This record gives sequence, structure tokens and C-alpha cells, in this order.
Amino acid sequence: MCSIEVIKSIHGGKVLSVNIFLYILNKNYKRKRDDRNVFYWTCSTKCGAKICTVETSNGEHEIDEFSTFSEDQHSHAADPIAIEAKKIKENIKQQALTSNVEKPIHGLF
Ligand SMILES: [Zn+2]
Repeated sequence: MCSIEVIKSIHGGKVLSVNIFLYILNKNYKRKRDDRNVFYWTCSTKCGAKICTVETSNGEHEIDEFSTFSEDQHSHAADPIAIEAKKIKENIKQQALTSNVEKPIHGLF
């Protein structure tokens, strides 16, 4: 079983975490055969590992039936600390963004 998680970046980027390996979104497209959104990811360390996911009906990601995940694809160990750091960083940015939006705009009326 794979544990998949998509970490959203406020800059519009997406980072995929599969069994504690981080992937950066390379491209995505709509597959005509089954009309699904297919996402191509490459390892964040540029070790050459790639993975494909498809979007499920509730917006989650699952590994595409034609793609496989294996830890042997990577020439390095997984880095759980990097993922936690990434999440914390994105959370802080998200909060900063939200508090800006909630600030009242003076002098509008
Ligand atoms: Zn890798």
C-alpha cells in the first residue's frame, strides 16, 4: 500500500508525497481514453524517479494503473524531515495569506 498526499503550494505548484518520497508536478493532461486527469511527477531530488497519478472524483490522487511506485526507483533514502518542513512552511504562508484577506480595507466607503 502507498500513502499518497498532495501538498499544495500557494504559488500554484503541487508537491506529491508517496511513502515519504517527494515529487514535483511536471505536467498534467486529460487522458482521452478514460477522460481522467493524469499527473506526471518527478522526484524532487531529480534522481530520475517518476510517477503518474490520476485524480479521483473527490479530488484526491491515486497512483495510475499504468504507473508503479517502488523505493528502488530512487537512488537515495526518503526524507521525512524535508516533508514536514515543507508542510510547515506552506501552512505559515497559507495563514499569512488568510490574515491579509481578513484585514479590513479602510477608506473604501
Ligand atoms: Zn528520488
